[in-house]
Amino acid sequence: MHAEAPRQSPGRPRIAVVGGGIGGLAAAAFLRRAGVMATVYEQAPALKEIGAGILVSPNAVRLLRQLGVMDRFLRDAVPVELAWEFRRWENGRVLSVERLDGVCERLYGERTYTVHRADLLDTVKAAVPEEWVRLGARCTAVEEQPDGVLLHFADGSKAEADVVIGADGVHSVVRATVTEPSTPEYSDICAFRTLVPAERAPAFALRRAHTLWLGPGRHLVHYPVNGGRAVNVVAFAPAGDFTEESWSTTASVEEFLAEFTGWDPRVTDLIRSGGTPGRWALLDRAPLRRWSTPRTTLLGDAAHPMFPFFGQGAAQAMEDGAVLAAALAEGADDIAGALQRYEEARIERATRLQTVSHGRAHVNHLPDGPEQQARDIALADSDPLTANGWIYAYEAAL
Ligand code: FAD
Repeated sequence: MHAEAPRQSPGRPRIAVVGGGIGGLAAAAFLRRAGVMATVYEQAPALKEIGAGILVSPNAVRLLRQLGVMDRFLRDAVPVELAWEFRRWENGRVLSVERLDGVCERLYGERTYTVHRADLLDTVKAAVPEEWVRLGARCTAVEEQPDGVLLHFADGSKAEADVVIGADGVHSVVRATVTEPSTPEYSDICAFRTLVPAERAPAFALRRAHTLWLGPGRHLVHYPVNGGRAVNVVAFAPAGDFTEESWSTTASVEEFLAEFTGWDPRVTDLIRSGGTPGRWALLDRAPLRRWSTPRTTLLGDAAHPMFPFFGQGAAQAMEDGAVLAAALAEGADDIAGALQRYEEARIERATRLQTVSHGRAHVNHLPDGPEQQARDIALADSDPLTANGWIYAYEAAL
C-alpha cells in the first residue's frame, strides 16, 4: 500500500517532508507560501509538542510574520522585557541584565517572546493545510532511485517523491541516507524541566523576564509562558550515569532539588512549586560536513542539533525551512542544484551556532574561583542584544 499524497501540479517536484515538528511544518508552510505543494509524514498520531518553553528571538518572529500567523502567535506569547538577567546561584545577586522593550524592536524590527513549544507548533501549523499532513506515518527508510525516492513506513506502506526533506529531529532516520552513521557522545549534561502554574509561582518568576541563575556545574533558566499563565523552568546539571535523550522521561522533584542543594531558596521554592519534572540527557554531536544528496536533504535538529544555550534550535529549523522552500521554488527543474544552494546558504551559520552553543556550557557552569569572577565582571559589561546581532538581524533568504 502506498501512502496517498496530495497531487502536485505538473512540472513541480513531489516533496516529502519527514517530521511534523517546528522545522518540518515551517518548511511546509514556506513551500505553500511559494506555491509549491508538499506532504508531511509525522510519526505521532497528532501534531503536538511536548516539552518546555522556548525563547523566540527576532529572527524567528520575522518568519512567523512572513507566514501571516502573528495573531495566533500573540495569543499565548509573552513579550520579554528583561533578558539575560544573570543571577548568582547562592544569593540571587544580579550579575547582568538587559532591557529589551523598545530596544529589540528598534534594532531588529521585531520583539523577543517566550512561548510554550506547543503554542509555537500550533502557530506554524496554522500556515499548513491540514490535508498535507499524514499522521501515524513513521518513516523507517529512504531509498534513493535513479528517478525519485521511495519512502518506507513502519506499517509497511511506501510513498514516492522527487525530494525528501528529513525534518525528523535529533534521532533522524533520513540522516542515514545523507551521511555515515555516527554515534553521539556523552556530554555529562542533563536537563530538567518543569512548568509552574502562575497561581503557585512566586512574583519574581512571573515578571516578563528571561532569568538565568549560574552556579558551579549547573544553571537554571525561567520565564513566563502560556500568556503568563505558567512559568517555564529548565535547568542543566551533571548527568551522572543518566543517558536517556527523550523528552518524555520524567524525574522526581527530589532528584531535581538534589542538584540545587544550597542554592538561593527562591530557586528551590520554584522547583518545588512545579509538577513532575521531565529529564533528558544532552548528547553531543559534531557538526555534519554535508546535509544533502541530489534528492534528499536535512533540516533543523536532523541536520544540526545544538545545545540549547543560545535558544536557537527551533529558530534555525524555521530559517532552514524558509531558505529551502525558496531554493526549491526557484529551482524546480534542478533539484540537486536547489538542495546544494540551500545547504551552501545555511551550513556555515548553523555550524557557527552549534559551536557557540556548545562553548556556552563551560562558561555557564564555571566553579567559583578566578575564572568565574572574571566571567561575572565580563557579564556586567556585556550587551548580548547587540553582540548577538549576527543571529537576530538575519534575513532567511537565498
Ligand atoms: P523536532 O522538534 O525534534 O521534530 C521532529 C519531528 O519529527 C517530531 O514531530 C517527530 O515526532 C517526527 N519524527 C521523528 N522521527 C520520525 C520518523 N522516523 N518518521 C516520521 N516522523 C518522525 N530552540 C529555540 O529556538 N529557542 C529555545 O529557547 C530553545 N530552547 C530549548 C530548550 C531545550 C531544553 C531543548 C532541548 C531545546 C531547545 N530548543 C530551543 C531547540 C528546539 O527545541 C529544537 O531545536 C527544535 O525543536 C528542532 O525542531 P525540529 O523540527 O528540527 O525537530
